[in-house]
Amino acid sequence: MTAIDARALPFAHVLPLSASLSAEGHLALGGLDTVALAAEYGTPLYVFDAATLKAQCRAYLDGFRAADPSSQVLYASKAFLNRPFARFIAQQGLGFDVVSGGEIEVLRAAGVDLATAYFHGNNKTPAELHLAAEAGVGCVVIDNLGEVALVEEAAAAAGRTQRVMIRVSPGIDGHTHEKTTTGILDSKFGLPIVTGAAEEAVRLILASPHLEFRGPHMHLGSPIFETDPYVLATELLAEFIADVCIGKLGAEVSDWSPGGGFAVAYRGEDEAPAIAAYARATVGVMQREADARGFSMPRTSVEPGRSIVGRAGVALYTVGARKDVPGIRTFVSVDGGMADNIRPAMYGSRYEALSAERPLASPEETVSIAGKYCESGDILIKDAHVPRFHQGEVVAIPTAGAYQLAMASNYNLAYRPAVVMVEDGAARLMRRRETAADLMAMDID
Ligand SMILES: *Cc1c(COP(=O)(O)O)cnc(C)c1O
Repeated sequence: MTAIDARALPFAHVLPLSASLSAEGHLALGGLDTVALAAEYGTPLYVFDAATLKAQCRAYLDGFRAADPSSQVLYASKAFLNRPFARFIAQQGLGFDVVSGGEIEVLRAAGVDLATAYFHGNNKTPAELHLAAEAGVGCVVIDNLGEVALVEEAAAAAGRTQRVMIRVSPGIDGHTHEKTTTGILDSKFGLPIVTGAAEEAVRLILASPHLEFRGPHMHLGSPIFETDPYVLATELLAEFIADVCIGKLGAEVSDWSPGGGFAVAYRGEDEAPAIAAYARATVGVMQREADARGFSMPRTSVEPGRSIVGRAGVALYTVGARKDVPGIRTFVSVDGGMADNIRPAMYGSRYEALSAERPLASPEETVSIAGKYCESGDILIKDAHVPRFHQGEVVAIPTAGAYQLAMASNYNLAYRPAVVMVEDGAARLMRRRETAADLMAMDID
Protein backbone atom coordinates (compact mmCIF):
# COMPACT_ATOMS: atom_id res chain seq x y z
CA MET A 1 0.00 0.00 0.00
CA THR A 2 1.20 3.48 -0.69
CA ALA A 3 1.07 5.67 2.34
CA ILE A 4 -1.49 8.15 1.06
CA ASP A 5 -3.90 9.74 3.42
CA ALA A 6 -7.18 7.89 2.86
CA ARG A 7 -8.93 11.25 3.14
CA ALA A 8 -7.43 12.09 -0.27
CA LEU A 9 -9.86 9.55 -1.75
CA PRO A 10 -13.06 11.05 -3.08
CA PHE A 11 -16.03 10.31 -0.82
CA ALA A 12 -13.67 9.13 1.94
CA HIS A 13 -16.44 9.47 4.52
CA VAL A 14 -18.76 7.10 2.68
CA LEU A 15 -16.00 4.53 2.05
CA PRO A 16 -15.04 1.93 4.67
CA LEU A 17 -12.45 2.99 7.25
CA SER A 18 -9.74 0.79 5.75
CA ALA A 19 -10.03 2.34 2.26
CA SER A 20 -6.61 3.13 0.81
CA LEU A 21 -4.66 2.92 -2.44
CA SER A 22 -2.97 -0.30 -3.54
CA ALA A 23 0.53 -0.33 -4.98
CA GLU A 24 -1.08 -0.09 -8.44
CA GLY A 25 -3.07 2.94 -7.38
CA HIS A 26 -6.32 0.95 -7.20
CA LEU A 27 -8.92 1.24 -4.46
CA ALA A 28 -7.91 -1.09 -1.64
CA LEU A 29 -10.12 -2.31 1.21
CA GLY A 30 -8.78 -4.17 4.23
CA GLY A 31 -5.37 -3.95 2.58
CA LEU A 32 -6.57 -5.79 -0.54
CA ASP A 33 -6.77 -4.46 -4.08
CA THR A 34 -10.45 -4.36 -5.07
CA VAL A 35 -9.64 -4.92 -8.76
CA ALA A 36 -7.85 -8.12 -7.77
CA LEU A 37 -10.80 -9.12 -5.56
CA ALA A 38 -13.16 -8.55 -8.51
CA ALA A 39 -10.92 -10.70 -10.73
CA GLU A 40 -10.76 -13.47 -8.15
CA TYR A 41 -14.41 -13.64 -7.10
CA GLY A 42 -16.17 -12.12 -10.11
CA THR A 43 -18.65 -9.24 -10.13
CA PRO A 44 -21.06 -8.11 -8.84
CA LEU A 45 -19.12 -8.62 -5.63
CA TYR A 46 -19.94 -7.30 -2.16
CA VAL A 47 -16.91 -6.54 0.01
CA PHE A 48 -17.41 -6.06 3.76
CA ASP A 49 -14.69 -4.32 5.76
CA ALA A 50 -14.20 -5.93 9.16
CA ALA A 51 -12.46 -2.85 10.58
CA THR A 52 -15.49 -0.65 9.87
CA LEU A 53 -17.87 -3.20 11.36
CA LYS A 54 -15.80 -3.54 14.52
CA ALA A 55 -15.45 0.23 14.86
CA GLN A 56 -19.20 0.78 14.46
CA CYS A 57 -20.11 -1.92 16.98
CA ARG A 58 -17.63 -0.45 19.46
CA ALA A 59 -18.85 3.11 18.83
CA TYR A 60 -22.45 2.08 19.57
CA LEU A 61 -21.49 0.17 22.70
CA ASP A 62 -19.30 3.02 23.98
CA GLY A 63 -21.63 5.81 22.84
CA PHE A 64 -24.75 4.42 24.49
CA ARG A 65 -22.99 3.03 27.57
CA ALA A 66 -21.50 6.46 28.21
CA ALA A 67 -25.11 7.67 28.53
CA ASP A 68 -26.54 4.56 30.27
CA PRO A 69 -23.95 1.98 31.42
CA SER A 70 -26.51 -0.84 31.28
CA SER A 71 -27.38 -0.16 27.61
CA GLN A 72 -27.62 -3.07 25.21
CA VAL A 73 -26.90 -2.77 21.50
CA LEU A 74 -28.93 -5.11 19.29
CA TYR A 75 -27.98 -5.49 15.65
CA ALA A 76 -31.05 -5.29 13.41
CA SER A 77 -30.53 -8.51 11.46
CA LYS A 78 -32.77 -7.58 8.58
CA ALA A 79 -30.10 -5.15 7.28
CA PHE A 80 -27.90 -8.17 6.37
CA LEU A 81 -27.53 -11.61 7.95
CA ASN A 82 -25.99 -14.97 7.36
CA ARG A 83 -24.33 -17.42 9.76
CA PRO A 84 -20.71 -16.17 9.66
CA PHE A 85 -21.90 -12.59 9.84
CA ALA A 86 -24.09 -13.39 12.87
CA ARG A 87 -21.12 -14.96 14.67
CA PHE A 88 -18.96 -11.95 13.82
CA ILE A 89 -21.55 -9.54 15.25
CA ALA A 90 -22.05 -11.66 18.40
CA GLN A 91 -18.26 -11.61 18.95
CA GLN A 92 -18.40 -7.80 19.00
CA GLY A 93 -20.74 -7.97 22.01
CA LEU A 94 -24.01 -7.11 20.30
CA GLY A 95 -27.36 -8.84 20.67
CA PHE A 96 -29.88 -9.16 17.85
CA ASP A 97 -33.17 -7.82 16.67
CA VAL A 98 -35.02 -10.36 14.52
CA VAL A 99 -38.21 -10.11 12.50
CA SER A 100 -38.87 -13.62 11.21
CA GLY A 101 -38.60 -17.32 11.84
CA GLY A 102 -35.91 -17.41 9.16
CA GLU A 103 -33.71 -14.96 11.05
CA ILE A 104 -34.23 -16.95 14.27
CA GLU A 105 -33.20 -20.15 12.47
CA VAL A 106 -30.04 -18.55 11.06
CA LEU A 107 -29.03 -17.23 14.49
CA ARG A 108 -29.74 -20.60 16.05
CA ALA A 109 -27.69 -22.41 13.40
CA ALA A 110 -24.87 -19.89 13.92
CA GLY A 111 -24.80 -20.85 17.60
CA VAL A 112 -25.77 -17.37 18.76
CA ASP A 113 -27.26 -17.11 22.27
CA LEU A 114 -30.91 -16.39 21.50
CA ALA A 115 -31.44 -14.88 24.94
CA THR A 116 -29.86 -11.78 23.34
CA ALA A 117 -32.53 -11.70 20.61
CA TYR A 118 -35.58 -9.43 20.48
CA PHE A 119 -38.37 -10.55 18.16
CA HIS A 120 -40.25 -7.85 16.24
CA GLY A 121 -42.89 -7.75 13.55
CA ASN A 122 -46.46 -6.63 12.93
CA ASN A 123 -47.70 -10.10 12.05
CA LYS A 124 -45.62 -12.78 13.70
CA THR A 125 -47.28 -16.07 12.89
CA PRO A 126 -48.26 -18.58 15.59
CA ALA A 127 -45.59 -20.93 14.16
CA GLU A 128 -42.94 -18.21 14.47
CA LEU A 129 -44.00 -17.44 18.04
CA HIS A 130 -43.80 -21.12 18.99
CA LEU A 131 -40.34 -21.31 17.39
CA ALA A 132 -39.25 -18.21 19.35
CA ALA A 133 -40.52 -19.67 22.63
CA GLU A 134 -38.87 -23.05 22.07
CA ALA A 135 -35.59 -21.55 20.84
CA GLY A 136 -35.38 -19.30 23.90
CA VAL A 137 -35.68 -15.89 22.24
CA GLY A 138 -35.05 -13.38 25.02
CA CYS A 139 -37.83 -10.91 24.40
CA VAL A 140 -40.87 -10.67 22.16
CA VAL A 141 -41.90 -7.15 21.23
CA ILE A 142 -45.68 -7.25 21.01
CA ASP A 143 -47.10 -5.18 18.18
CA ASN A 144 -50.88 -5.55 18.42
CA LEU A 145 -53.57 -6.57 20.90
CA GLY A 146 -54.27 -9.97 19.38
CA GLU A 147 -50.64 -10.93 19.73
CA VAL A 148 -50.75 -10.95 23.53
CA ALA A 149 -52.78 -14.17 23.59
CA LEU A 150 -50.61 -15.76 20.89
CA VAL A 151 -47.38 -15.09 22.82
CA GLU A 152 -48.97 -16.28 26.07
CA GLU A 153 -50.04 -19.52 24.40
CA ALA A 154 -46.59 -20.11 22.85
CA ALA A 155 -44.82 -19.43 26.16
CA ALA A 156 -47.21 -21.74 28.03
CA ALA A 157 -46.68 -24.50 25.47
CA ALA A 158 -42.90 -24.16 25.84
CA GLY A 159 -43.26 -24.14 29.64
CA ARG A 160 -41.48 -20.84 30.13
CA THR A 161 -42.05 -17.25 31.11
CA GLN A 162 -41.59 -14.95 28.15
CA ARG A 163 -40.25 -11.46 28.60
CA VAL A 164 -42.18 -9.02 26.46
CA MET A 165 -42.11 -5.37 25.50
CA ILE A 166 -44.76 -3.50 23.59
CA ARG A 167 -44.11 -1.57 20.43
CA VAL A 168 -45.74 1.77 20.85
CA SER A 169 -46.71 4.08 18.03
CA PRO A 170 -45.93 7.51 19.45
CA GLY A 171 -47.49 9.48 16.58
CA ILE A 172 -44.21 11.12 15.54
CA ASP A 173 -43.00 11.63 11.98
CA GLY A 174 -39.33 10.80 11.53
CA HIS A 175 -39.19 12.79 8.27
CA THR A 176 -37.85 9.95 6.21
CA HIS A 177 -39.23 8.31 3.08
CA GLU A 178 -42.97 7.57 3.09
CA LYS A 179 -42.18 3.86 2.66
CA THR A 180 -39.88 3.78 5.70
CA THR A 181 -41.57 6.03 8.24
CA THR A 182 -43.13 3.91 10.98
CA GLY A 183 -43.78 6.08 14.02
CA ILE A 184 -46.83 7.90 12.68
CA LEU A 185 -50.39 6.99 13.63
CA ASP A 186 -51.27 5.86 10.09
CA SER A 187 -48.84 2.92 10.23
CA LYS A 188 -49.22 -0.83 10.32
CA PHE A 189 -46.60 -0.90 13.10
CA GLY A 190 -47.15 -0.49 16.80
CA LEU A 191 -49.85 0.20 19.36
CA PRO A 192 -50.94 3.84 19.38
CA ILE A 193 -50.75 5.62 22.72
CA VAL A 194 -53.52 8.11 21.91
CA THR A 195 -56.16 5.50 21.11
CA GLY A 196 -55.59 3.62 24.36
CA ALA A 197 -54.38 0.49 22.54
CA ALA A 198 -50.92 0.63 24.14
CA GLU A 199 -52.49 0.84 27.62
CA GLU A 200 -54.82 -2.05 26.87
CA ALA A 201 -51.86 -4.19 25.73
CA VAL A 202 -50.02 -3.62 29.01
CA ARG A 203 -53.18 -4.51 30.94
CA LEU A 204 -53.58 -7.76 28.98
CA ILE A 205 -49.89 -8.64 29.46
CA LEU A 206 -50.06 -8.09 33.22
CA ALA A 207 -53.00 -10.51 33.35
CA SER A 208 -51.10 -13.21 31.38
CA PRO A 209 -49.45 -15.83 33.62
CA HIS A 210 -46.57 -16.68 31.26
CA LEU A 211 -45.68 -13.12 30.25
CA GLU A 212 -43.33 -10.72 32.02
CA PHE A 213 -43.80 -7.09 31.02
CA ARG A 214 -40.50 -5.21 30.60
CA GLY A 215 -41.41 -1.87 29.03
CA PRO A 216 -42.20 0.11 25.87
CA HIS A 217 -40.36 0.14 22.56
CA MET A 218 -40.62 2.44 19.56
CA HIS A 219 -39.01 2.60 16.13
CA LEU A 220 -39.57 5.72 14.09
CA GLY A 221 -38.41 4.54 10.67
CA SER A 222 -35.16 4.74 8.78
CA PRO A 223 -32.89 6.51 8.02
CA ILE A 224 -33.61 9.43 10.34
CA PHE A 225 -31.19 12.30 9.75
CA GLU A 226 -32.63 14.49 12.53
CA THR A 227 -32.52 13.94 16.27
CA ASP A 228 -35.66 15.95 17.14
CA PRO A 229 -38.10 13.13 16.33
CA TYR A 230 -36.29 10.94 18.87
CA VAL A 231 -36.49 13.67 21.52
CA LEU A 232 -40.23 14.18 21.02
CA ALA A 233 -41.03 10.47 20.88
CA THR A 234 -38.88 9.69 23.94
CA GLU A 235 -40.77 12.35 25.89
CA LEU A 236 -44.06 10.70 24.92
CA LEU A 237 -42.74 7.29 25.92
CA ALA A 238 -41.60 8.65 29.29
CA GLU A 239 -45.04 10.13 29.88
CA PHE A 240 -46.58 6.77 28.98
CA ILE A 241 -44.24 4.96 31.38
CA ALA A 242 -44.95 7.35 34.25
CA ASP A 243 -48.68 7.97 33.84
CA VAL A 244 -49.94 4.73 32.35
CA CYS A 245 -47.56 1.82 33.02
CA ILE A 246 -46.55 2.82 36.53
CA GLY A 247 -49.23 5.31 37.58
CA LYS A 248 -52.38 3.69 36.28
CA LEU A 249 -51.46 0.01 35.96
CA GLY A 250 -48.84 -0.37 38.67
CA ALA A 251 -46.47 -2.12 36.29
CA GLU A 252 -42.73 -2.32 36.76
CA VAL A 253 -40.79 -0.89 33.85
CA SER A 254 -37.26 -2.32 33.64
CA ASP A 255 -36.51 -1.70 29.95
CA TRP A 256 -37.21 0.67 27.13
CA SER A 257 -36.02 1.02 23.53
CA PRO A 258 -35.87 3.91 21.08
CA GLY A 259 -35.42 1.38 18.23
CA GLY A 260 -32.99 2.02 15.39
CA GLY A 261 -33.10 4.10 12.23
CA PHE A 262 -29.80 5.92 12.78
CA ALA A 263 -28.58 7.42 9.52
CA VAL A 264 -25.40 6.88 7.53
CA ALA A 265 -23.98 9.02 4.73
CA TYR A 266 -24.61 7.65 1.24
CA ARG A 267 -23.39 10.67 -0.70
CA GLY A 268 -20.51 13.08 -0.38
CA GLU A 269 -22.77 15.83 0.94
CA ASP A 270 -24.69 13.66 3.46
CA GLU A 271 -24.02 14.30 7.11
CA ALA A 272 -25.40 11.84 9.64
CA PRO A 273 -25.66 12.86 13.30
CA ALA A 274 -22.97 11.44 15.59
CA ILE A 275 -23.84 8.43 17.74
CA ALA A 276 -23.40 10.63 20.83
CA ALA A 277 -26.08 12.98 19.48
CA TYR A 278 -28.53 10.09 19.03
CA ALA A 279 -27.66 8.87 22.54
CA ARG A 280 -28.38 12.33 23.98
CA ALA A 281 -31.69 12.52 22.09
CA THR A 282 -32.82 9.15 23.47
CA VAL A 283 -31.07 8.01 26.65
CA GLY A 284 -30.34 11.57 27.75
CA VAL A 285 -33.98 12.58 27.36
CA MET A 286 -35.30 9.44 29.08
CA GLN A 287 -32.92 10.01 32.01
CA ARG A 288 -34.03 13.63 32.33
CA GLU A 289 -37.71 12.62 32.16
CA ALA A 290 -37.22 9.78 34.66
CA ASP A 291 -35.64 12.20 37.12
CA ALA A 292 -38.36 14.78 36.59
CA ARG A 293 -41.21 12.28 36.84
CA GLY A 294 -39.71 10.25 39.65
CA PHE A 295 -39.32 6.79 38.11
CA SER A 296 -36.06 4.84 37.96
CA MET A 297 -34.25 4.90 34.64
CA PRO A 298 -35.07 1.72 32.70
CA ARG A 299 -32.30 -0.12 30.82
CA THR A 300 -31.92 1.07 27.23
CA SER A 301 -31.62 -1.17 24.22
CA VAL A 302 -30.90 0.32 20.80
CA GLU A 303 -31.30 -1.45 17.50
CA PRO A 304 -28.99 -0.09 14.82
CA GLY A 305 -28.92 -2.03 11.55
CA ARG A 306 -28.03 0.29 8.68
CA SER A 307 -25.55 2.27 10.77
CA ILE A 308 -23.65 -0.89 11.79
CA VAL A 309 -23.28 -2.47 8.37
CA GLY A 310 -24.03 0.22 5.76
CA ARG A 311 -20.64 1.88 5.46
CA ALA A 312 -18.75 -1.39 5.85
CA GLY A 313 -20.03 -2.67 2.48
CA VAL A 314 -18.88 -1.76 -1.03
CA ALA A 315 -20.48 -3.18 -4.18
CA LEU A 316 -18.13 -3.85 -7.09
CA TYR A 317 -19.48 -4.05 -10.62
CA THR A 318 -17.95 -4.36 -14.09
CA VAL A 319 -18.87 -1.79 -16.70
CA GLY A 320 -20.43 -3.14 -19.90
CA ALA A 321 -22.54 -1.39 -22.50
CA ARG A 322 -22.49 2.36 -23.07
CA LYS A 323 -25.41 4.04 -24.81
CA ASP A 324 -25.52 7.67 -25.84
CA VAL A 325 -28.98 9.02 -26.51
CA PRO A 326 -28.01 12.39 -28.02
CA GLY A 327 -29.55 15.33 -26.23
CA ILE A 328 -31.17 13.05 -23.66
CA ARG A 329 -28.64 11.11 -21.62
CA THR A 330 -25.87 8.54 -21.62
CA PHE A 331 -26.40 5.18 -19.98
CA VAL A 332 -23.41 3.28 -18.64
CA SER A 333 -24.55 -0.22 -17.73
CA VAL A 334 -23.02 -2.47 -15.11
CA ASP A 335 -23.37 -6.21 -14.51
CA GLY A 336 -25.65 -5.88 -11.46
CA GLY A 337 -28.53 -3.58 -10.59
CA MET A 338 -31.95 -3.86 -8.99
CA ALA A 339 -31.58 -7.58 -8.29
CA ASP A 340 -28.79 -6.83 -5.80
CA ASN A 341 -29.81 -3.25 -4.94
CA ILE A 342 -33.51 -2.39 -5.08
CA ARG A 343 -33.11 0.78 -2.99
CA PRO A 344 -32.83 3.33 -5.82
CA ALA A 345 -35.93 1.89 -7.51
CA MET A 346 -37.90 1.50 -4.28
CA TYR A 347 -36.91 4.59 -2.29
CA GLY A 348 -35.19 6.86 -4.81
CA SER A 349 -31.97 6.33 -2.82
CA ARG A 350 -28.87 8.14 -4.08
CA TYR A 351 -25.32 6.82 -4.16
CA GLU A 352 -21.81 7.76 -5.28
CA ALA A 353 -19.70 5.73 -7.72
CA LEU A 354 -15.98 5.66 -8.25
CA SER A 355 -13.57 3.69 -10.37
CA ALA A 356 -11.86 0.92 -8.45
CA GLU A 357 -8.99 1.16 -10.95
CA ARG A 358 -8.61 4.95 -10.82
CA PRO A 359 -10.18 6.05 -7.55
CA LEU A 360 -8.55 9.48 -7.73
CA ALA A 361 -9.83 10.22 -11.26
CA SER A 362 -11.85 13.44 -11.51
CA PRO A 363 -15.43 13.50 -12.79
CA GLU A 364 -15.57 14.10 -16.56
CA GLU A 365 -19.20 13.55 -17.48
CA THR A 366 -22.74 13.11 -16.20
CA VAL A 367 -24.22 9.73 -17.01
CA SER A 368 -26.77 7.36 -15.55
CA ILE A 369 -25.36 4.13 -14.16
CA ALA A 370 -27.86 1.49 -15.23
CA GLY A 371 -28.33 -2.07 -14.08
CA LYS A 372 -28.71 -5.01 -16.46
CA TYR A 373 -32.26 -6.07 -15.60
CA CYS A 374 -35.38 -5.80 -17.72
CA GLU A 375 -36.97 -2.77 -16.09
CA SER A 376 -36.56 0.84 -17.18
CA GLY A 377 -36.47 1.72 -13.50
CA ASP A 378 -33.33 -0.35 -13.04
CA ILE A 379 -31.03 2.66 -12.67
CA LEU A 380 -28.51 2.52 -9.82
CA ILE A 381 -27.48 6.18 -10.04
CA LYS A 382 -29.28 8.79 -12.13
CA ASP A 383 -27.11 11.71 -13.25
CA ALA A 384 -23.86 10.53 -11.67
CA HIS A 385 -20.83 12.81 -12.08
CA VAL A 386 -18.11 10.33 -12.86
CA PRO A 387 -14.91 9.77 -14.81
CA ARG A 388 -15.45 8.32 -18.29
CA PHE A 389 -15.68 4.64 -17.36
CA HIS A 390 -14.42 2.23 -19.99
CA GLN A 391 -15.86 -1.15 -20.81
CA GLY A 392 -14.49 -3.75 -18.42
CA GLU A 393 -13.62 -1.18 -15.75
CA VAL A 394 -14.43 -2.15 -12.16
CA VAL A 395 -16.66 0.41 -10.49
CA ALA A 396 -17.26 0.68 -6.74
CA ILE A 397 -20.49 1.88 -5.16
CA PRO A 398 -19.96 2.57 -1.45
CA THR A 399 -22.39 2.32 1.50
CA ALA A 400 -23.65 -0.97 0.11
CA GLY A 401 -23.75 -3.01 3.30
CA ALA A 402 -27.34 -2.52 4.45
CA TYR A 403 -30.66 -3.50 2.85
CA GLN A 404 -29.11 -4.41 -0.49
CA LEU A 405 -28.22 -8.11 -0.35
CA ALA A 406 -30.90 -8.44 2.32
CA MET A 407 -33.48 -7.41 -0.28
CA ALA A 408 -31.77 -9.10 -3.23
CA SER A 409 -33.83 -11.14 -5.63
CA ASN A 410 -33.34 -13.59 -8.46
CA TYR A 411 -35.19 -11.32 -10.88
CA ASN A 412 -34.32 -12.29 -14.46
CA LEU A 413 -32.92 -15.38 -12.71
CA ALA A 414 -29.89 -13.38 -11.62
CA TYR A 415 -27.30 -15.18 -9.54
CA ARG A 416 -27.10 -13.39 -6.22
CA PRO A 417 -23.57 -12.02 -5.60
CA ALA A 418 -20.73 -13.41 -3.52
CA VAL A 419 -19.74 -11.66 -0.29
CA VAL A 420 -16.18 -11.39 1.02
CA MET A 421 -15.06 -10.02 4.36
CA VAL A 422 -11.66 -8.31 4.24
CA GLU A 423 -9.28 -7.49 7.08
CA ASP A 424 -5.52 -6.87 7.36
CA GLY A 425 -4.69 -8.18 3.90
CA ALA A 426 -6.86 -11.31 4.10
CA ALA A 427 -10.15 -12.04 2.37
CA ARG A 428 -12.67 -14.56 3.59
CA LEU A 429 -15.51 -15.65 1.34
CA MET A 430 -18.61 -15.31 3.52
CA ARG A 431 -21.14 -16.30 0.88
CA ARG A 432 -20.43 -17.78 -2.53
CA ARG A 433 -22.10 -16.58 -5.68
CA GLU A 434 -25.25 -18.45 -6.63
CA THR A 435 -25.09 -20.93 -9.47
CA ALA A 436 -27.55 -22.27 -12.02
CA ALA A 437 -27.97 -25.29 -9.75
CA ASP A 438 -29.01 -22.99 -6.87
CA LEU A 439 -31.60 -21.36 -9.10
CA MET A 440 -33.15 -24.72 -9.89
CA ALA A 441 -32.67 -26.35 -6.49
CA MET A 442 -36.29 -25.95 -5.45
CA ASP A 443 -37.89 -26.99 -8.73
CA ILE A 444 -39.94 -30.15 -8.70
CA ASP A 445 -39.58 -31.35 -12.23
C1 LIG B 1 -35.62 -2.08 10.81
C2 LIG B 1 -35.68 -1.94 12.27
C3 LIG B 1 -34.56 -1.50 12.96
C4 LIG B 1 -33.27 -1.10 12.29
O1 LIG B 1 -33.37 0.03 11.48
P1 LIG B 1 -32.01 0.64 10.90
O2 LIG B 1 -32.42 1.79 10.09
O3 LIG B 1 -31.39 -0.42 10.06
O4 LIG B 1 -31.17 1.01 12.05
C5 LIG B 1 -34.62 -1.44 14.33
N1 LIG B 1 -35.75 -1.78 15.00
C6 LIG B 1 -36.85 -2.21 14.36
C7 LIG B 1 -38.04 -2.60 15.14
C8 LIG B 1 -36.85 -2.30 12.98
O5 LIG B 1 -37.95 -2.72 12.35
